[in-house]
Amino acid sequence: MLPDTIAQARDGLKNGKYSAVELLETLRKRIGSAEDKVKAYIHLTDDLALEQAQAADQRIAGGEDAPLLGIPLAIKDNICARGARTTCASRILDNFVAPYDATATQRLLSAGAVILGKTNLDEFAMGSSTENSHYQPTRNPWDLERVPGGSSGGSAAAVSAGMCLGALGSDTGGSIRQPASFCGVTGLKPTYGRVSRFGLVAFASSLDQIGPMTRTVADAALLLNVIGGKDPLDSTSADVALPDFTKALGRDVKGLRMGIPKEYFTSGIDPEIERAMRETIRTLEKLGMKQVEVSLPHTQYAVATYYILACAEASSNLSRYDGVKYGFRAENSKNLLDMYTKTREEGFGEEVKRRIILGTFVLSSGYYDAYYLKGQKVRALIKRDFDEAFKLCDVIVAPNSPIAPFKLKEKLDDPLQMYLSDIYTISINLAGLPAMAVPCGFTQGGLPIGAQLIGRHFDEETVLNVGHRFQLDTDYHLKRPPL
Ligand code: GLN
Repeated sequence: MLPDTIAQARDGLKNGKYSAVELLETLRKRIGSAEDKVKAYIHLTDDLALEQAQAADQRIAGGEDAPLLGIPLAIKDNICARGARTTCASRILDNFVAPYDATATQRLLSAGAVILGKTNLDEFAMGSSTENSHYQPTRNPWDLERVPGGSSGGSAAAVSAGMCLGALGSDTGGSIRQPASFCGVTGLKPTYGRVSRFGLVAFASSLDQIGPMTRTVADAALLLNVIGGKDPLDSTSADVALPDFTKALGRDVKGLRMGIPKEYFTSGIDPEIERAMRETIRTLEKLGMKQVEVSLPHTQYAVATYYILACAEASSNLSRYDGVKYGFRAENSKNLLDMYTKTREEGFGEEVKRRIILGTFVLSSGYYDAYYLKGQKVRALIKRDFDEAFKLCDVIVAPNSPIAPFKLKEKLDDPLQMYLSDIYTISINLAGLPAMAVPCGFTQGGLPIGAQLIGRHFDEETVLNVGHRFQLDTDYHLKRPPL
């Protein structure tokens, strides 16, 4: 009886096919059978979930019709949910219980959602494989020997394996889109400022965005309706009108121009992914869209720019973890400085330390102009590339990753290789644009491939509409892992 989508579950609940508590039990059974293999969750919030499901049943009985009443969802463990641990998959926050809800969490809850648990990630969302978790690596439901992508690998795997009906992820440089693509689900990174970051543990504040990960584009639209919009608690959340994204679906895409960035189809892309992308472009053409070539000439600088700026911001944001106010504190320190040093040495993992050191270096006096300031200038050029491209097209069609899901440990000792695989997603964060991953094919080995649809600032409507139209015509998003 496990419903596939949020839309189906809403119907089931409305028509009394099952209660919210029964739906929760069904999801828990699914988690019971799959979680041992996949390890998508850091922890489940069973008690809270039951209370929420019971409350949802009462609201349903009272004739209420909130958009997510009784819908079981999961939340990435760098987004606060009051009363639950929020660990960021880091030892340093292992014992941290969030005293408040993130705005996105609070909006889900007011809409009636049931929170199943907190999903695994790369520590502080730094990584592309979910292997940098202090707790455990998550596995790809399509092939348990392979990574689910990252950093929102737990959310992607949970949606893919049917262990929740939708999830929140966060995306600083691709962390929603790349794991969505690796796990065969839909994942939307909204425009910077569309969704409040209040209660999202900061990695790189000028890039971070929360977004939905779901089976279908229609479900993603539904979640964005709930979590989007201005929030007085986040001064970077934008005061722009929040359209009804569900209503935007189903518009004709005929005549829309899709930009194909020529720099994204050069050497380095796996031929199987390129083939799936060409097929996707053909499908969109059949639906009446027009192909135009666009150029993003500063793409070659994107990885360097991103890793300078993201690490600079991370080094500043992560300075708050010093063992004083919250989280882990090392024992047996001789004095205050020793306590700071030991706490950070023992509390952070390898990758996080690498980035703090790199970020501190690029911000240090004497190097600031050469790295950080230069990085900011290149960021402006990358943004300008997109402004120019969007004069010629309405949406950009691109891959999410140059490679298919790789084996666990395959890239763990080679951070540069890992960074380079972010090439197609990070520019979008640098430019602040909305972009969505939609399943668009499989490798010969049966691993999912995703296409990326990139839109103009605050034009999630076009992105969602094109994605939805694509899903009406294809069935990649309906396929299930063998698990
Ligand atoms: N893979 C990128 C990184 O390691 C992006 C991470 C993210 O979006 N949170 O920084």
